[in-house]
Order: sequence, then structure tokens, then C-alpha cells
Amino acid sequence: MEINILVVDDDQDMRMLLENYLKKLEVEKIHFTDTAQKTYEFLKLNGLKTEPVVDLIILDIILGEENGIEICRKIKRHPAYQEVPVIMITAQKELEYLKEAFAAGAMDYLKKPIIKIEFMARVNSAIRLRKETKARIEREKELLQLSEELKKANQKLEKIALVDGLTGISNRRLFDKTIKKELKRARRKNSDLALIMIDIDNFKEYNDTYGHQQGDQCLKEVASVLDKKTKRAADFAARYGGEEFAVILPDTAKDGALKIAEDIRKGIMNLKLEHQNSAVSDYVTVSLGVSSIKAEKDVNQEMIKTLIEKADQALYQAKENGKNQVVYKSFE
Ligand code: GH3
Ligand code: MG
Ligand code: MG
Repeated sequence: MEINILVVDDDQDMRMLLENYLKKLEVEKIHFTDTAQKTYEFLKLNGLKTEPVVDLIILDIILGEENGIEICRKIKRHPAYQEVPVIMITAQKELEYLKEAFAAGAMDYLKKPIIKIEFMARVNSAIRLRKETKARIEREKELLQLSEELKKANQKLEKIALVDGLTGISNRRLFDKTIKKELKRARRKNSDLALIMIDIDNFKEYNDTYGHQQGDQCLKEVASVLDKKTKRAADFAARYGGEEFAVILPDTAKDGALKIAEDIRKGIMNLKLEHQNSAVSDYVTVSLGVSSIKAEKDVNQEMIKTLIEKADQALYQAKENGKNQVVYKSFE
């Protein structure tokens, strides 16, 4: 790990002395500045960088006319230097300023005249501290990155768990969640909630005639029509299972739901997917069962079951009536 040091001192002899001592330590580069301005520029205090330029600062408490404590305060105010140790160098008569220096963020001090053994020991411990801090920051960064990756992976998994792999629309799991949520909302707002169950007509024949892969392709196209026909933000289409689909229409009563169901039926006819062995049409068609509920009072989860049952019964009726049509069954 590289350690770079900045010595801020206006005394040439002092700089040479410190350089000689520092060279004996495990230090990559030793930099020098001798005024506040040069120091700020060197440390890039005006920049937004969050990486410090050096790992340790040795700072004379008085530089000619300038106050080292003020320099220290300014350095320490920059986020990049919060964890960079500053050692102040003071003359005996300046000891009274030490309290202020520590308040400004200094971690240690050295008295003039510099005693080599003391200097080496204190600088060494500052370097050790800095190395530990750097290692910790590195670990924290890695952890942060890992947790971000984990978060993304989780979001992806969550999404996969709610999407139907073949058609890309929502799956049964999300349908179950959504209908619960929408029923609660309908009750809160005293509003209507409609459900459409959709089943492809003679789909077994379709698979038998065109093969399973073509059957899958057909499911995708039917799903894309549902996706297009559920225009409002709260409208929701899902693959309910096999060749069955379901559409939830919040804030929608009988007439509106019937209109959308009819729209879906026509939309699928208009795909003009050839189905020569269909008993109903030359093209792929669907049957639709619609039901709706006005969630006024004692709505409970049991009613979800009933709503689905009613839509299913309507779908069964549509099949019985000759398929390729919409049937409504009221909730009551
Ligand atoms: P009806 O008009 O009464 O709905 O008759 P049907 O043939 O559509 O209904 P049935 O329930 O007899 O057959 C459904 C078929 O859907 C049988 C099954 O192989 C097929 N199927 C279910 N899921 C898939 C799938 O993911 N891909 C393909 N290609 N076919 C599927
Ligand atoms: Mg079916
Ligand atoms: Mg079918």
C-alpha cells in the first residue's frame, strides 16, 4: 500500500531534516509546500474529489504570517481528508495552541527541536493508522458494491418470479397478489372491480395441427393483444395457466368490462392466426367470461374466490354457447 506524505513548513532547514527522516520510512513520495495557498492547491481542496492526494500531513503550526491551525481546519473540513492524519509541529512557546490544534482536527503533535526517535515513532504510528483506515475504506467499498449487486440480483429475481417465462406478461403468482390488492382498494374506494377470464378455443387441436412450438408462439401473440388492450395504468393482464389468461379491471363495472372483453376478442380474431381445424373459425379465437363486483361493504378474501368462480362460469357458458364470444355473469 503506497503512502504519500505532505510536509507543510516554510523553514528550508526543517524541510531538509524531515525529508531525511521520512526517507528512512516506508514512504512512496514526500511532497512539500510552504504557504496556505500552495497547500490548498496541492491538496485540491477546491475540487470535488473524494480521494485524498496524500495519506499523512505534517503541518507547522506557524508559517511566517500564516496560521497552521487554520490550514488544518480547512483541510479537515474537506470530506476527502477527514480520515487523513495531520501531525502538527510546534515550538515550545506555542504549546498553548495545542488545544486549538486538536479541535481543528490534528491527531498528534511534535515539539521542536525534533528528536529523531520520537519523530520516527509518531510518524510510523500515524502511517500504520492510515494504512488500517485505507484497508477499511477499501473493504467498505467492496461491501457496498457487493450489496448493490445483491440488491440488483434480488430485484431481478423478484421480477422473474412474477413474470410468465413464455409470454413475458405477469404470471399467476402476481395475479393472485394483484386481485387481493385491487379488491382491498375497491373496498376502500367503494368502487367496481371487474375480472375477465380468457381461454383459447380448440387449443388442443391447434397444438395437434401445428405443433407445440407454434402453440407457444400463439400464446405469445394472444398475450401481446391482452397487453395492448389493457390500457389504463391499473389494468392488469396475466397468464393464469396453460392457455388461460385473466384480466383485472379496477374501477370498471359491467358495461366497461364487456366492452374491453369484446375488444380483446376482436383483437385476437384480427391477428388472423390460421387455425384450420378449429370448430369455430378459420383463425384462432378465444372465449371470455366476465364478472364484476361493487365492493361496498363486507368484502373479504372469500369474495375473490367467488368472483373468479363467476367469471369461470361465464367462460364455461361462452364455450357452451359455441365459443368465440363474451358472456357476463353477475356476482350476486
Ligand atoms: P376449448 O376450446 O374448450 O378451450 O378446448 P381446448 O382444446 O382449448 O382446451 P383443452 O383444455 O382441452 O386443451 C388445452 C390445451 O392447451 C392442451 C395443452 O396441451 C395446451 N397447452 C397448455 N399450456 C400450453 C403451453 O404452454 N404451450 C402449448 N403449446 N400448449 C399448451
Ligand atoms: Mg383451457
Ligand atoms: Mg381452450
